[in-house]
Amino acid sequence: MMGNSLKYFFADFTHENYRKLLKIAKQNDLFCDFTNYSPKENFIIWRHDIDFSVHSAFKLAAIEREENVVSTYYIHLHNEFYNPLEKEIADKLLSIKQMGHKLGLHFDTHFYDITNTNELRDSLSFEKNILEKTFDTEIHSFSFHNTNDFVLSFNEELYEGMINVYSRYFREEVPYCSDSNGYWRYERLEDILVSAKYKNLQVLTHPAWWQDSVMSPRERIQRCVKGRADNVMKRYDELLSSQDRENIDW
Ligand SMILES: [Zn+2]
Repeated sequence: MMGNSLKYFFADFTHENYRKLLKIAKQNDLFCDFTNYSPKENFIIWRHDIDFSVHSAFKLAAIEREENVVSTYYIHLHNEFYNPLEKEIADKLLSIKQMGHKLGLHFDTHFYDITNTNELRDSLSFEKNILEKTFDTEIHSFSFHNTNDFVLSFNEELYEGMINVYSRYFREEVPYCSDSNGYWRYERLEDILVSAKYKNLQVLTHPAWWQDSVMSPRERIQRCVKGRADNVMKRYDELLSSQDRENIDW
């Protein structure tokens, strides 16, 4: 099993190392977001698709805040691991915004079974509206969840007033580094940052892949799922006790 931890760089994915990577990136690159980059200048755009845990997103947001870096957090409204509209989670997302980060829409075409641009526009506009009202902010950009060739064929720069982070420009002109599935499928982020080999870069992280201690990717997800389950049970127990009800078990 030791083989996997080296092969897939388990030790890269700690909060301590995350901070180290941010420090390297800050030295070499100008941090921008999708609304304020200039194609002619060097820039790095740092984004997070929240696929598993808003608590993990909050931790990365706090580290970025300490390092004076601004990034964008993309919220998924049809998620199986968290509900962005439940009070505790919505408050965490608001805190991320209050730290100075941007919120974006992580859009799931598969939920709607979208087949054409009109359907895409309708659903994008509907979800943009939900996020803007819930989080009292403007949503300037969106990212597709679980991309495939069909989804990526929507490659215009702008839909419903939101920048498409998978537009033709970004996919063809801006190198991209992602931690999808908890490992570096293409290049390792540290290698890219240390070599400073690219003029521009888009970095995508999914916050749950970054934890306090070294874990396998599967363990990192298990931790998120268990944390949520424990929290829900705790709330159930507290609710009954606050109402002076019997909490009946075997
Ligand atoms: Zn996603």
